[in-house]
Amino acid sequence: MMPICPSPRPKTHKRSDDHAGQGGEMTYSLTWLADVLRNAKLNVAEQPGWRNRGRGDVGKILGVMCHHTAGPPKGNMPCLNVVTNGRTGADALAGPLSQLCLGRDGTFYVVAAGRANHAGAGVWQEIQTGNSSFIGIEAENTGLADDSWPDVQMDAYRRGVAAILKKIGASAEMCCGHKEYALPPGRKDDPSFDMNAFRKAVAAIMAGTENEVGKDGS
Ligand SMILES: [Zn+2]
Repeated sequence: MMPICPSPRPKTHKRSDDHAGQGGEMTYSLTWLADVLRNAKLNVAEQPGWRNRGRGDVGKILGVMCHHTAGPPKGNMPCLNVVTNGRTGADALAGPLSQLCLGRDGTFYVVAAGRANHAGAGVWQEIQTGNSSFIGIEAENTGLADDSWPDVQMDAYRRGVAAILKKIGASAEMCCGHKEYALPPGRKDDPSFDMNAFRKAVAAIMAGTENEVGKDGS
């Protein structure tokens, strides 16, 4: 399967016809993202121009979609540039490719406050407007069996999703994996971890009972 960031050596140059959200005056809706994550005691790295970056604006945000990059095996967030600026080649796609990136050290990189090309066709809880209705998080991981998820990254993933869901007034059921949303079934395989266990752990964080669930979310 080819998740959203399939290139082992991401190209970072922009397509000449892609100027949307680059250097414009428009400030998009999700300007609260950095503060919400910081208030959850997470490490946040705001990227230059993120408040003005988007493929237009989002609609009403109803949930969060989890991804992995399928990027290189080394480095904290080597896919940051391609998520920000999009990818070229046979499966070219204009950036941003998600609003947030999550590095292997648990740092959230805030990339965009507007709409991002992360979902494609699919459905979750009867919602089919993935790019307009879900905040995308691209976590750095190859997706391969030998790339275990660091505890610090998974802990940040769960707490970050919990903080966003609380902010938008949604339950943990409104967090889905790209592999769960994407249609036709099997079109995407990310993220590589168990989404039912993940949602259970997120729900426990939101309820303040996470110490009763176990650190691995199982
Ligand atoms: Zn994905």
